[in-house]
Amino acid sequence: MNKQYDAIVVGARCAGSPTAMLLARKGYRVLAVDRAMFPSDTISTHIVHPLATESLKSWGLLDRLVATGCPPMHTYSFDFGPVTISGTPGTADFPVGYCARRIILDKLLVDAAAEAGAEVREGFTVDEILKEDGAVVGIKGHSKDGHTVIERARVVIGADGRHSLVADTVKPDQYNEKPPLLAAYYSYWSDLPMNGRFETYIRPNRGFAAAPTHEGLTMIVMGWPYAEFDENKHDVEGNFLATLALVPEFAERLKGAKRESKIAGATVPNFFRKPYGPGWALVGDAGYTKDPITAQGIRDAFRDAELCANALDQSLKEERSFDDAMGDYQSTRDADVLPMYEFTTQLATLEPPSAEMQQLIGAIYGNQKAMNQFIQMNAGTISPAEFFAPENLGALMGGPPNQA
Ligand SMILES: Cc1cc2nc3c(=O)[nH]c(=O)nc-3n(C[C@H](O)[C@H](O)[C@H](O)COP(=O)(O)OP(=O)(O)OC[C@H]3O[C@@H](n4cnc5c(N)ncnc54)[C@H](O)[C@@H]3O)c2cc1C
Repeated sequence: MNKQYDAIVVGARCAGSPTAMLLARKGYRVLAVDRAMFPSDTISTHIVHPLATESLKSWGLLDRLVATGCPPMHTYSFDFGPVTISGTPGTADFPVGYCARRIILDKLLVDAAAEAGAEVREGFTVDEILKEDGAVVGIKGHSKDGHTVIERARVVIGADGRHSLVADTVKPDQYNEKPPLLAAYYSYWSDLPMNGRFETYIRPNRGFAAAPTHEGLTMIVMGWPYAEFDENKHDVEGNFLATLALVPEFAERLKGAKRESKIAGATVPNFFRKPYGPGWALVGDAGYTKDPITAQGIRDAFRDAELCANALDQSLKEERSFDDAMGDYQSTRDADVLPMYEFTTQLATLEPPSAEMQQLIGAIYGNQKAMNQFIQMNAGTISPAEFFAPENLGALMGGPPNQA
């Protein structure tokens, strides 16, 4: 069979463009398509945690992000009411996070894929995933002028987000499923200086955060429990402002600020999908979607791109079987993300911190090393499994956690 491409990537944002770029850099013939034109925005806030910047650096793209004027965030803080835990989110080599507008970040990634030699087709909608003898062999889609084409490849990669057409077609096993847990809304404000800080406020059944982004704006994102979604959707703005008013000092700062955008929002379910099968693979949200409260999606998309591109390289070069190489991709992904998935989906309930957590927060307050680790765990720099290990908590606090 004469297949035109080695790989077709459906979706060209945080997961798709890096996957296309990495495969093209390895010398493969890659087609990346997206129904969107770039630059364009998408419904998502955009905290890029330090480990995501490590990926950008390794791909030679971090300098480009910095050159866009996105302010670095050197300190993250969690205000629980009685106490605020503040610290550094990253590592010695990658100390800061960014809050990079998707309209800028995604364009940077698309351009990098094209520069690497991938053919990028914007404004192209995939209508159908083509299968033959149980294996995916290509796509059928149309460009903006309505012209329909068929393209074939050795592998079709779904980087097409949580409503993935690729996943919908191949129906992979779905596991660790949890329902939507919160409704998240965000907007942009001018004249709200953050001074390099990403601030999160936790209050009963509510949480919100503020982070400095491009063009001198500050992004404010907040959430309420999914159970309140129906009731609150009739007055999102009123509920948004009422949530900010729960922290009077923040509301005071807001008096000098101006809202510069509409309030946008989304709710997302939580699930893992098996990310490979005959002729297909999934990366990013298409393979693993979780609540945005810990802002892990961009970092996870970058990690998937690396793991999946490496596994496909091994398989396409016939160094390993497809199932073997891609099975490693799945197990490495799952082992990496599972502790953070559990932490994220617990946090997203917006239930008050448990008695143990309150004790822990009280115990680490004022201990900068312990507070840094708490912040780094929330940023995904260290795993919750590592942070919450009794020996780690014991070492941080000079004794077992229940005696701290
Ligand atoms: C409210 C909210 C806030 C968030 N905040 C953060 C945050 O602060 N930090 C963070 O790291 N993550 C955050 N996330 C998660 C983050 O948005 C996702 O994890 C990330 O966008 C996943 O990237 P992706 O490339 O897999 O998918 P997407 O970004 O969804 O991109 C999929 C692309 O596929 C294209 N596509 C889909 N179907 C087709 C088709 N049939 N034909 C052609 N093209 C198609 C779409 O046009 C789209 O461009 C947030 C999510 C939400 C909803």
